[in-house]
Amino acid sequence: MTIALYPGSFDPVTNGHIDIAARAATLFEKVIIGVYDLPAKRLLFDRDERAGMMREAVAKFPNIEVRLYSGLTVDYARKIGARVIVRGLRANSDFEAEFAMALMNKKNEPDIETVCLMTSNEYVFLSSSLLKEVAALGGEIRNLVPPHVAEALRRKYEAQGVKS
Ligand code: ADP
Repeated sequence: MTIALYPGSFDPVTNGHIDIAARAATLFEKVIIGVYDLPAKRLLFDRDERAGMMREAVAKFPNIEVRLYSGLTVDYARKIGARVIVRGLRANSDFEAEFAMALMNKKNEPDIETVCLMTSNEYVFLSSSLLKEVAALGGEIRNLVPPHVAEALRRKYEAQGVKS
């Protein structure tokens, strides 16, 4: 059985992430979505919120599981028996970063392969950071995230006193 790890910050999960996870679930027997607990970025949602939103988003897929992790991604992949790390690729800018990360991961753990899936057309320009910018200003995000994520964004910005 090939287990694939799909790691990321998912702050918050978007339809672009779900599309990659769903497609990976047709290629591998099991996909574990690893929600990285403390990425080196400023986060809007804490780790439990990010994992909880992701769990709800992929609940209908029987072979996808969501777990929190910390530390090196390849160490975590080895620990859970994943032979593959799945990443999503949007534009050129993603390629540079993913290429460097894949080579670094390979150096640390030669037996684990990185598999990049190309984004679907409708999500080429969708990123969690752009989504948050639009949501904070009250823009339309309905087709970009599941309804529970749109609601969580609305509540979060309301609590922060930002009109949305
Ligand atoms: P990071 O892992 O850098 O913190 P994210 O959590 O946003 O970034 O994304 C996790 C993975 O999903 C990355 O490989 C990223 O390139 C990919 N991804 C993000 N948004 C999309 C999208 N719209 N389409 C395809 N892949 C995406």
